[in-house]
Amino acid sequence: MQHFPVFLAVAGRRITVSGGGETALAKLRLLMKTEAHLTVFAADPSSDLERLAADGRLRLVRRPFGPGDALCAVLAYAANDDATEDARVAALARVDGALVNIVDNLADSAFITPAIVDRDPVIVAIGTEGAAPVLARAIKTDLEERLPVALGLLTRIGKAFRHAAESLPMGRKRREFWGDYYFSEGPRALEAAGAGGVEAALEALLDRHLTAAERPGRVDLVGAGPGDPDLLTLKARRALDRADVVIHDRLVTPEILELARREAVMIDAGKEGFGTSAAQDDINAMMVDHASRGLHVVRLKSGDPTVFGRLDEEIEALEGAGIDWSIVPGITAASASVAALGQSLTKRGRNSAVRFLTGHDMKGFADHDWRALGRPGEVAAIYMGKRAARFLQGRLMMHGADPATPVSVIENASRPDQRILATTLAQLEPALTEAGLDGPALLLFGLAPRVARARLPEIQDLIQTQEATR
Ligand code: SAH
Repeated sequence: MQHFPVFLAVAGRRITVSGGGETALAKLRLLMKTEAHLTVFAADPSSDLERLAADGRLRLVRRPFGPGDALCAVLAYAANDDATEDARVAALARVDGALVNIVDNLADSAFITPAIVDRDPVIVAIGTEGAAPVLARAIKTDLEERLPVALGLLTRIGKAFRHAAESLPMGRKRREFWGDYYFSEGPRALEAAGAGGVEAALEALLDRHLTAAERPGRVDLVGAGPGDPDLLTLKARRALDRADVVIHDRLVTPEILELARREAVMIDAGKEGFGTSAAQDDINAMMVDHASRGLHVVRLKSGDPTVFGRLDEEIEALEGAGIDWSIVPGITAASASVAALGQSLTKRGRNSAVRFLTGHDMKGFADHDWRALGRPGEVAAIYMGKRAARFLQGRLMMHGADPATPVSVIENASRPDQRILATTLAQLEPALTEAGLDGPALLLFGLAPRVARARLPEIQDLIQTQEATR
């Protein structure tokens, strides 16, 4: 970060602008939203500026900026559309002790003006350190669509009510009250009855929250998807937004953990597949313990929680302790992996069934119906199959599977470091050894990347190395 965003106190302070044309005017339109005293220096001011001065919106000094003109100013803008004049003004203003901005001159400016979404007192400042103004504008438009115009009004009314709301205990209770206000009761009351109605709604809402019985804790068993935060469901995001405690597996990516409420306690249960870093019993006990204390626990599991996630053991523990729970499904690794291949899991005329297998279970390599799996056209998504590759290969070939059956290995599906390895059953073990994968990987038995996709450089590489070893 080369620029640190802050909100500067400008009410009643001085800000100077040098320049009488459109560039100065553009800055002034923003600055006039503040409660600062604006002084504009321009030998030849435009008629718009004259009008603003006549309306008392700013003070106009009809001469060039001179020594001492920025004394006591917090900010000074040089907006003359003339590099020499801007440099002269900037040097003088610096001597006066003001922070100086030269419009469109990042290198010589002490600060830059962000793109602003104004829902006063809610202000969003967007900056790209000058790198991508187009991006800043796009984000601004997006936020403007999302933040209702009335948000500012709701916030002002809410702010005046803060004192009354202190009758609720700090923490979750108060948070829930404000959440109800901003996201449901407030907008509803404003629409139905205008600003006057909002205050009455706040009183009623507070009453309701003060008399409400203590809400019991609960556990949401949430699918985090394969790693790309954009593949989280809205429900998962909402659960993360409200969580008091997040207990997550090792495979859940940092980008997703970032989305949890800032105050949430994050617990790494360190589990990867059937691994036992934290014993299942300990995880169960942890969930029960936190939820019994009235907390909202999110048990965050990679992919879909119902796929090779020992979900039932966790549910049984919660049921046993009488704790309320729900499942939020997620996108399983097989879905993300097959999408990366540009293929379908099922296909008319090829396979009308698909199997989800684990290469590994708690007792070691998992046994399956190898004969059925080895029939032509079969498709299987094999989880935790990396270490079991040699075993899988041996068993399948022994039971008649064609050694030329395509197998695709997708490492880090949906993540920036995703890799696809296209191989065959016969080559599977050597190909895996050579590729030396260290991220989570899924084997798709019976599926090759769609041909057009084989042009992707990473696949091309791998196909070539395999051909060379053949
Ligand atoms: N519940 C998870 C699976 C948990 S078992 C799901 O629905 O996806 C853990 C196994 O999932 C890993 O060993 C690996 O085989 C697979 N896996 C999880 N995330 C993956 C990813 N991003 N890319 C490839 N495989 C993944």
